[in-house]
Amino acid sequence: MRIVVEDVGKTFIDSKKNEVTALKDINFSIEQQEFVVLVGPSGCGKSTLLNIVGGLMSPSTGQVYFEGGSGKDPKLGIVFQEIALFPWRTVYQNVIFGLQENGASKKECEEKGKYYIDMVGLTGFENAYPKQLSGGMKQRAGIARALSVEPDLLLMDEPFSALDAQTRTLMQEELLTIWDRTRLSTLYVTHNIQEAVYLGDRVIVLSRHPGQIKSIINIDMPKM
Ligand code: ADP
Ligand code: ADP
Repeated sequence: MRIVVEDVGKTFIDSKKNEVTALKDINFSIEQQEFVVLVGPSGCGKSTLLNIVGGLMSPSTGQVYFEGGSGKDPKLGIVFQEIALFPWRTVYQNVIFGLQENGASKKECEEKGKYYIDMVGLTGFENAYPKQLSGGMKQRAGIARALSVEPDLLLMDEPFSALDAQTRTLMQEELLTIWDRTRLSTLYVTHNIQEAVYLGDRVIVLSRHPGQIKSIINIDMPKM
């Protein structure tokens, strides 16, 4: 599936009733099996753009569309910086949440739950509750939950920014290993240029005033 972002703009009205232009004239695409990173300073509109691509927010202008999918609504997997695990559910119950929502059978939940818990290195922690996990482990569980629905597009908004430097480096390496196995079309948001060039096939740099594309850096050849 190919994701096209066409002429997207977003204007907010702030508390003083002033218009704030968060994004203007944004055009890019995410090709099948491509890992695209959006990078730029705080406040440049990265989260807004990710939320628009993910359908969580509507753009003020332009559109986002999906080409070459199964014809149904695209399936999305989303991982945020703020750990959004359900505290009253175990790791396993959190990971299979999206599958259950999609009406998967118990058997499918068990198979995929086990598979993706193993992929993120949480085997043995299936019955733990989020409060018993470290920050890195919570993000692993969040990633497994996003992967378990086998999404057409994986969206990640600063997933490792709240972690200590050592854990963050480890998680970046592990994400690339996972990515090599899944080859999901991915849009990843960060303010860290070093992280962006380490992870991305293509890095889109947003400028501050107002969120427009400053440059697009091609890091790797398309992986086909
Ligand atoms: P980034 O993710 O790059 O830090 P954001 O997308 O969060 O940037 O924000 C871009 C700009 O839009 C900022 O100026 C921010 O204050 C503004 N903004 C974001 N969300 C809202 C909102 N709900 N209401 C008003 N302004 C907003
Ligand atoms: P990030 O740095 O990850 O973009 P922010 O702290 O900028 O996170 O934004 C967190 C949330 O607050 C987002 O949902 C964003 O839309 C909202 N937000 C950001 N700026 C504003 C603002 N000026 N007024 C209202 N909501 C805002």
